[in-house]
Amino acid sequence: MKVSVATYGSHSALQILRGAKDEGLKAVLLCPRSRHRLYERFRLADELILVEGVEDLLREDVQSNLNSMGSILVPHGTIISDVDIKKFVKDFKVPIFGNRELLIWESDRELKEMLLKKAGIEVPRAFSSPDEVDCPVIVKLPGAEGGRGYFIASGREDLIKKLTETGVRMNRGLYIQEYVVGVTVYPHFFYSPLKGEVELLGVDRRYETNVDSLGRIPASDQLNLGVQPTYEVVGNIPLVLRESMLEKFFDIAERFVEATKRLVPPGMIGPFCIEAICRTPDDIVVFEFSARIVAGTNLFINGSPYSYLLYGEGMSMGRRIAKEIRLAYETSELEKVVT
Ligand code: AMP
Repeated sequence: MKVSVATYGSHSALQILRGAKDEGLKAVLLCPRSRHRLYERFRLADELILVEGVEDLLREDVQSNLNSMGSILVPHGTIISDVDIKKFVKDFKVPIFGNRELLIWESDRELKEMLLKKAGIEVPRAFSSPDEVDCPVIVKLPGAEGGRGYFIASGREDLIKKLTETGVRMNRGLYIQEYVVGVTVYPHFFYSPLKGEVELLGVDRRYETNVDSLGRIPASDQLNLGVQPTYEVVGNIPLVLRESMLEKFFDIAERFVEATKRLVPPGMIGPFCIEAICRTPDDIVVFEFSARIVAGTNLFINGSPYSYLLYGEGMSMGRRIAKEIRLAYETSELEKVVT
């Protein structure tokens, strides 16, 4: 078959490679030299192209090699976080599974918030000045990776005090957001342009340090320790939702897909994640989205409760991507799933 699935060696690469093979497609790995041994251990790549780092994806020889194998690149979180995404979207001349323009929207906080609002999805309130703040807030620093350097303030005065103490200034693209008290939920969806349908393939929650350890310290000791929460993801924990909540999440996912069609044509293609906080089972606020495969799907390489309902055993997100590519290829509709 003159089509292959390529990805970069990190994040969810193992699952993407395995999914390609399970669907009978050639699996191509752009492998960073430093991780060669790791990926060799799993023997999943049919073709392995050694690179120094993710920026090498823009090398002309690498791209022509991929094109000669009919490769379609599956982008993941490392590509979003470790390259200049605007440059990548413009200069990478290999087909990408998904809507490449949406990757730019994902990495821009303002565009992201606008898209969610236009979809009619509730988002946390954002404040353009500390003086407007009238509730607990979370302060997100520009480009802060994995929530490092975020801090919480209990209200306006506490915020102004903390901004003064830390010397952080408003004009550095600081993002002040209402702090939503509730539990975080990360449902993994797949939108199939071939079927015109949203599928739910799994749900996780993230295990974040140090915030997920704070509950183990008695409140009185927390005060003495003066610890600030941080939100660096260490791993993912599987979750199933109350069945009565599923409809609400499908509604949010479908609104999201519709909004992407209007604002970023051709709209969502393939995997995405709605990053939500539930104040109550009925009161759901969405603070982020990912418009590509998320690492939480690594929990379900052998399938999840939801993918089992739809497909039986063994349907990971990586395999679902490969399946869509294979079906599109077989029906000569590849242009519907790549950009
Ligand atoms: P983010 O970098 O926006 O994905 O946020 C990192 C983590 O901060 C999330 O996984 C949540 O645990 C927490 N968080 C982000 N935004 C909010 C919010 N508005 N209210 C409460 N917690 C939040």
